[in-house]
Amino acid sequence: TYTLGPKIANWNQKRKVWLDQNPQFPNYVNKRARILLVTGSPPKPCDNPIGDHYLLKAIKNKIDYCRLHGIDIVYNLAHLDKELAGYWAKLPLIRRLMLSHPEVEWIWWMDSDALFTDMMFEIPLEKYDNYNLVVHGYPDLMFNQKSWIALNTGSFLFRNCQWSLDLLDAWAPMGPKGPIREEAGKILTAFLKGRPAFEADDQSALIYLLLSQKDQWMDKVFIENSYYLHGYWAGLVDRYEEMIEKYHPGLGDERWPFVTHFVGCKPCGSYGDYPVERCLSSMERAFNFADNQVLNLYGFRHRGLLSPKIKRIRNETATPLESVDQNNIRWRVLHRS
Ligand code: UDP
Ligand code: MN
Repeated sequence: TYTLGPKIANWNQKRKVWLDQNPQFPNYVNKRARILLVTGSPPKPCDNPIGDHYLLKAIKNKIDYCRLHGIDIVYNLAHLDKELAGYWAKLPLIRRLMLSHPEVEWIWWMDSDALFTDMMFEIPLEKYDNYNLVVHGYPDLMFNQKSWIALNTGSFLFRNCQWSLDLLDAWAPMGPKGPIREEAGKILTAFLKGRPAFEADDQSALIYLLLSQKDQWMDKVFIENSYYLHGYWAGLVDRYEEMIEKYHPGLGDERWPFVTHFVGCKPCGSYGDYPVERCLSSMERAFNFADNQVLNLYGFRHRGLLSPKIKRIRNETATPLESVDQNNIRWRVLHRS
């Protein structure tokens, strides 16, 4: 069967030796685990040129979040393994980055069509000390209903360790494009509730693997739903005004969603499940909702959630450092206990 590469053994030990020999690249800085956010998009221009503009907005949004929270970022445009093109491309990429960056403790995959919509919220990493994979989902949908949307693989974290390499190896075999992926799709559709008939996708394959080898993997998998590590856009984008009125950034849950993910929208390629116009205006709203939280630091905001135009919210002053102290979320992040 297909493999991602030569089998790696004893990675935990090898990585520890490397970390000991390279103290200038620590995996923890000021007691905080080093995180690498990984995202990307297809190597070629979008079929619909406006899609490239939304990919640009989506990467700007991620750069802003990562800069404010001290997270490294990778944008990938290549297919590292042409057998695993499309949504499977994240698997060889995550593996490669784990092996090339032993200093990184967590690799955080995020789809191009997912936006940060809470610029203040931080992942509660302490919660995951005893886990190696953190993914948004619902245990009831998973274990009782075997639903194909029990987990979402648009935003998840992998610890850099042997366990994760083993999981990637077990996850990949349904991925190769062509007959293997087609046949695997039939198995997944027969097994998972609600799954339409189509080729194997990475999300269904992960749910299938974790259900069929539950004892082997689940004790290191954290299924998160106390905040939106992934949030389905359709239930969120029309409520932003209500959220602004009632709540504030930093909550991360349905009151102020951490991530808004445009599942089923394909503004870059063809064949989405929703009209492109609805997807694009919803993305515009999500982007501006998030961008207001960034612009606020600099004294501006968008005129409306659908407007690229901005306006001033504070006057220029001759004592700028006062507003740095009042409005700097980096300051709050660095001084959190
Ligand atoms: N992707 C990629 N290269 C490709 C195709 C997809 O890096 O050639 C990434 C991209 O970030 C995309 C993700 O894979 O967001 C998953 O695909 P998509 O968001 O279309 O799936 P959905 O979330 O709608 O199920
Ligand atoms: Mn997606």
